Amino acid sequence: MSTLLELKDVKKHFPLKSDKILTREKPVLKAVDGISVAVQSGETLGLVGESGCGKSTAGRLALKLLEPTEGEIWFEGKNITSYKGESLRRLRKEMQIIFQDPYASLNPRKTIEQALSEPMKIFGMAKKERKQRVEYLLDVVGLSSYHKNRYPHEFSGGQRQRIGIARALALEPKLVICDEPVSALDVSIQAQVINLMEDLQEEFQLTYVFIAHDLSVVHHISDRVAVMYLGKIVEIGEAKELYSNPKHPYTQALLSAVPETNPQLEKERIILKGDLPSPANPPAGCKFHTRCPFAEEICRLQEPELKPVSEGGQLAACHFVKEVILQEQLS
Ligand code: SF4
Repeated sequence: MSTLLELKDVKKHFPLKSDKILTREKPVLKAVDGISVAVQSGETLGLVGESGCGKSTAGRLALKLLEPTEGEIWFEGKNITSYKGESLRRLRKEMQIIFQDPYASLNPRKTIEQALSEPMKIFGMAKKERKQRVEYLLDVVGLSSYHKNRYPHEFSGGQRQRIGIARALALEPKLVICDEPVSALDVSIQAQVINLMEDLQEEFQLTYVFIAHDLSVVHHISDRVAVMYLGKIVEIGEAKELYSNPKHPYTQALLSAVPETNPQLEKERIILKGDLPSPANPPAGCKFHTRCPFAEEICRLQEPELKPVSEGGQLAACHFVKEVILQEQLS
């Protein structure tokens, strides 16, 4: 597998207004505060964390919908950080997004055919070809060709998300950032949409970054999962390994909140103290120390690094998780 997308120490700090006129340091909101992650072609990376942890900002940075404050973004082996104008326009074809609320992103006055053919028109596709592709896209997402003449309000939430998926696929992208695509749907519909996304991934060799606030949603679709807390990745690893053996106390707490489907297995819920601190004023040291049940003095003083914690390549940022010394490093 080759690397399709890579974020290298990417930060996004939003300037804030200050009440103090003569302060040297301008206040900033550290939405994303130095994340490095590589996404392989054909895989699904789940990006999980509470709302306000920076996961959606990270998705928009990857798509170049936001400019990073620092760091680099690479796509297909090219540094795209400074892409603008025509080079960025061409890149847009390769990377698309599925939003949580497709209704908000669909123009209520445009038919589904108009909405789906818009990106094709921008990229110069002929009218006849556009018509055929709209029908094809509706078919692959499980809708009928007669739906093309209808307006967004005539569809259910699940159908609208199918339209959102069809629109994301209109230009045959390689990468799709799925920003909470099923969070607004009923549980039974969530499963249908996730199954559809899995089928489409196989059919069109898509690479997904699947953003969700709930670890149970990304469980089945993800090959790997990255857990974010206050703008940082605190744990990342193969989905199977991370779910069965979470190393970071924050991941453990998130997983303890996932309902157990097997009544034979009892699970103790870890209740986190307090709310997520403000990314405008994050705690010093380990950013999780204000809520962590295992915090000690060092946690308040020193920020832990993301380091290997299993032979399987799992990484976690916690002072008290034992680091695995990899065999290659010893030889
Ligand atoms: Fe908790 Fe300390 Fe580990 Fe942070 S470094 S997760 S505060 S034990």
